[in-house]
Amino acid sequence: MSTPAFFFDRDGTVNASPGPGYVLRWHDFHFLPGITEMLAAVKARGWKTILVTSQQGVGKGLMDAATLADIHHRMQAALGPAAAFDGIYACTGLDGEDPRRKPSPAMILEAAQDHHLNLSASWNIGDKERDLAMGRAAGIPRNLLFGSPEFPDWPSVLRHWIAATPGADSTPSPAAR
Ligand SMILES: [Mg+2]
Repeated sequence: MSTPAFFFDRDGTVNASPGPGYVLRWHDFHFLPGITEMLAAVKARGWKTILVTSQQGVGKGLMDAATLADIHHRMQAALGPAAAFDGIYACTGLDGEDPRRKPSPAMILEAAQDHHLNLSASWNIGDKERDLAMGRAAGIPRNLLFGSPEFPDWPSVLRHWIAATPGADSTPSPAAR
């Protein structure tokens, strides 16, 4: 079995960018409009949804791993079963020290192995060039820059994905859920 996946960067893509700092507590995590609908649509078509995020704040000692895990647990609960991510991969190490740091494809390759993904049929989106470089390095053909003129918001990404994905505009069958 080989399933396509949609890979999502976190800060500035799924949730509002914290600016130069980090989201250190759930109170400061704010979903961007339309992300829940996007995730639900992709999952309903049988694609996997994978979060790939750099959280160097842990490596810097600004928060501990348990706090990061708690934020992600609350994020999943808020998204609900229809929209929760199928996988979450976080790199918490420091730049220049951790080989999994973006733009390394390491996190995507781990997810591909864990979830039996077909990367050549997958999509990847993020708000930074290093997110796109990571996807290209992993062999993903569709790497989208969130916030660009072509993809300024989630409704525009969803329209683009539906137009490019056979069957995505039809009502999902129960088996695809
Ligand atoms: Mg980002």
